[in-house]
Amino acid sequence: MLPHSFDALNFIKTPVWLVSPVSEHLIFANIAATDMMRNKTLTEMRQGIYSASAQQQLAMYVPDLKSELDIVEIWTVWRDGHETTLSCRLSLAGHEIAGDVIVFEGIVSQAPSGLKASRSANYQRKKQGFYARFFQTNSAPMLLIDPARDGLIVDANLAALNFYGYHHDTMCSKHTWEINTLGRNILPIMTEIARLPGGHKPLNFVHRLADGSTRHVQTYAGPIEIYGDKLMLCIIHDITEQKRLEQELEHAALRDSMTGLLNRRQFYLITEQTNPSHLPAQQQFSLLLVDTDHFKNINDVFGHSKGDEVLISLSRMLEACSRKDDFVFRWGGEEFVLLLPRTTLDVAMQVAETIRAEVARIAIPGLPRFTVSIGVARHNPDESIDDLFKRVDDALYRAKNNGRNKVLAA
Ligand code: GH3
Ligand code: MG
Ligand code: MG
Repeated sequence: MLPHSFDALNFIKTPVWLVSPVSEHLIFANIAATDMMRNKTLTEMRQGIYSASAQQQLAMYVPDLKSELDIVEIWTVWRDGHETTLSCRLSLAGHEIAGDVIVFEGIVSQAPSGLKASRSANYQRKKQGFYARFFQTNSAPMLLIDPARDGLIVDANLAALNFYGYHHDTMCSKHTWEINTLGRNILPIMTEIARLPGGHKPLNFVHRLADGSTRHVQTYAGPIEIYGDKLMLCIIHDITEQKRLEQELEHAALRDSMTGLLNRRQFYLITEQTNPSHLPAQQQFSLLLVDTDHFKNINDVFGHSKGDEVLISLSRMLEACSRKDDFVFRWGGEEFVLLLPRTTLDVAMQVAETIRAEVARIAIPGLPRFTVSIGVARHNPDESIDDLFKRVDDALYRAKNNGRNKVLAA
């Protein structure tokens, strides 16, 4: 937190949050913003019941923000004693200490939504002119929605009918909350979108199709006046495949591809982060460095792929022996690290001993039994990770010199 440099923001009535796009830490919230948060965390506001956004990870916004694209998120906040929506405009600011910072500026408008009941829903009779050319012939799925009638879908183009799998009549008897998996919570979000200045903004939702399946969609929704009626035009992009690829990439960046364990990079991310909800320095943790004994022999005698099989079985055993909050990493080659939060040296030694004994019992058809040696250390307050590693590495070295299949403390 860098409170003093941002104090001036407390004098304005607009709620403002400053967030690091990399760590997603809240750097500062002014008084107006704090009032709306109550006890909510940033994540709870961004992913609450009335929340909508175009990206889950804040870092993904940075390129668009650098090009000064207009980006808005809808958050769930407290106002007048109840949970409600708040639109936030995003912008990027550079801070000399904090670096790149995303500024979330609440758009608090008391203005009425400007939506009044439509006079006629029969857009079918009016299929002519610009509306017909723009709406009906567009290859992007589009829905025309009447917010004043509980979010009724009043028209859908051919692309939308193909996408959702409904006939026109059925589609136009449905409401947005019937196709959006948020259900009726979409209604306040829609009202919020209708109020946004400057038209259509991308937001992500999950929509349900006629066959019951769901798709990730990015919608561009905004107010539109057609034949005097104030409606909402919603343009839909199917981003299901993109989402799947994103998740695959995220998984690949986090984990070792062969064993599925967390990778070394994750170890440093977890131990170096200062996020209090994760691993504060005062919560002492213990570390286990596990090294497979004579692993080179297994490769030499039985082949590399049998060696791989050993590493995979070993990984599953390490996971089975670890507790709910423990982290298991593939450190590299035939070496593994276990990070045990809030764990004394005694308990860490017991976990290590269990692992050693269980590994010695692993039976792989066509292979002799194999063993591991383990170095154990408890993190000392203010000790660097490098120093801790030196100690645990020494302990492992002694375990090896003591005949292997051993657990030794640093
Ligand atoms: P020690 O008991 O002293 O630890 O002996 P060791 O043979 O286990 O140690 P050494 O460091 O000599 O050999 C490790 C071997 O692990 C060498 C390397 O080829 C092998 N290795 C590293 N990564 C992989 C992998 O992903 N798959 C397989 N099959 N072998 C690997
Ligand atoms: Mg080794
Ligand atoms: Mg080894």
